[in-house]
Amino acid sequence: MRHLLGIDDLSSDEIRDIINRADYYSRALADGRWDRNKLQHKIVLTLFFESSTRTLTSFDIAAKRLGADVVNWNAELSSLSKDESFSDTIDTLSAMRPDAIIIRHCEYGAPNFVAGRVDCPVINAGDSWREHPSQALLDALTITQEKGELKGLTVAICGDVAHSRVASSNAKLLTKMGANVRFVAPEFLMPQKLPCESIKCFDNLEQGIEGADVVMMLRIQKERMDRGDIPSDAAYFNNHGLTLERLKCAKPDAIIMHPGPMNRGVEIADEVADDPTRSMMKRQVANGIPTRMAILDLLVGG
Ligand code: ASP
Repeated sequence: MRHLLGIDDLSSDEIRDIINRADYYSRALADGRWDRNKLQHKIVLTLFFESSTRTLTSFDIAAKRLGADVVNWNAELSSLSKDESFSDTIDTLSAMRPDAIIIRHCEYGAPNFVAGRVDCPVINAGDSWREHPSQALLDALTITQEKGELKGLTVAICGDVAHSRVASSNAKLLTKMGANVRFVAPEFLMPQKLPCESIKCFDNLEQGIEGADVVMMLRIQKERMDRGDIPSDAAYFNNHGLTLERLKCAKPDAIIMHPGPMNRGVEIADEVADDPTRSMMKRQVANGIPTRMAILDLLVGG
């Protein structure tokens, strides 16, 4: 494995290997015992062309926990604002010989383009609505820790599936690992082309989560939609929001996930988001660190 560009490029064995390594780092972090110099003298460059709270900070902390130096490049302060082309910017940064590049970009396939031009590993931290592989891997770690294994589980991915790279990467990973994936979305938020043929589609939330082991909620990705297509928050919540009442349709021990950022009172009710036993949101954020440590270790650790 030279880069992490998308789940499509990973075999089920590679996915299992990353999850196991992430689980190792999750335990090691809890015990305070891991190799803090694993990436000593390595320089990790983060190139974020879109905003981020969780992913950028999480990669930054993961790299530093392994002893790497991190350079957070800022698109707004760069020569892109002086009309330098994207490819010239990438060639310039590559000439400085970073040991890894972590990129988030709104353009479809931008990380693959960068991987074709540079000499170091490239990690996709989210591109357009296509892929967000590290999110799918940390979600897989969270589900595995909670449910034991992915195989045979029913996972309902609900909300704005059409514009979500999280939905796309998760659907591919979970299907590869033997889970049954459902997409639950009103027609205008259902993708026209499914990432895997086996996915079952539902337009009704209660029916879509019936008997599910995992209910994964997504926000409406307004930045990727025409304003005219967006319903009012109240109307969306009434028809498609996850409430405690609706959650009764899932298995009694179903867990609730959300990649964040969460829009309370739109796709999810406060009581569901804050349920201390079933809501996995904080665990997902925490698991971002060991998962990204595992990815960096694998690609940069040699
Ligand atoms: N944080 C996730 C992403 O970057 C989900 C979201 O933005 O809704 O795709």
